[in-house]
Amino acid sequence: MMVKILLITYIFLFSDDKKYVYLTVDDGPSSITNQICDLLSKYNAKATFFVLGENVKRYPDMLKRIYLDGHLVASHTYSHINFCKLKNENKQLLVSEIKKTEVEIFKIINYKPSYLRYPYGCYSKKVINIAKELGYKVVNWDFGYDWHSYNEERIISEYLKNLKHKNIILVHDSPKRNKMVLRVIEEILKEGKRKNLNFIRLDESY
Ligand SMILES: [Zn+2]
Repeated sequence: MMVKILLITYIFLFSDDKKYVYLTVDDGPSSITNQICDLLSKYNAKATFFVLGENVKRYPDMLKRIYLDGHLVASHTYSHINFCKLKNENKQLLVSEIKKTEVEIFKIINYKPSYLRYPYGCYSKKVINIAKELGYKVVNWDFGYDWHSYNEERIISEYLKNLKHKNIILVHDSPKRNKMVLRVIEEILKEGKRKNLNFIRLDESY
């Protein structure tokens, strides 16, 4: 009996099926969100989209697509301000950046996000506490690289090296660099399959 329990525990803990990674997509929605969603469904992957309120307003249909495809919609605030560079008296601005984004998202998909990532990964105690008071869990990332101006091959190889069990990977929903971003995402998804990693939402784990 004991052996059987140990065996089941072993299979549960070490089976390849249980390996996962979190792909997080920041700054959208945008004109390329549809293509990102197509790639994710091609590889049967789920992701978390940290969207900007101002872009939700510009691309409401893209937000709908993210949501209907079963990805997690999360907040990246309204207009991408670096709150770590603001002074104390700007608490009001911060709250309104979060609230305005909530309103825009709710109008379209009737859903209030519960995960938030501040622009530039701002993670001071003050901003974290404000997000918590408003009901958010703040999540940054383990690896991101697509904002560097290195060539595509180098960017891809850095991503592939860092594609490991439980890592939170950051890419950008950025039409400015769309060809590169879409290729990076596809290579990440392919490599994930090769490594037997499941792509899951931040609110899931096994
Ligand atoms: Zn951002």
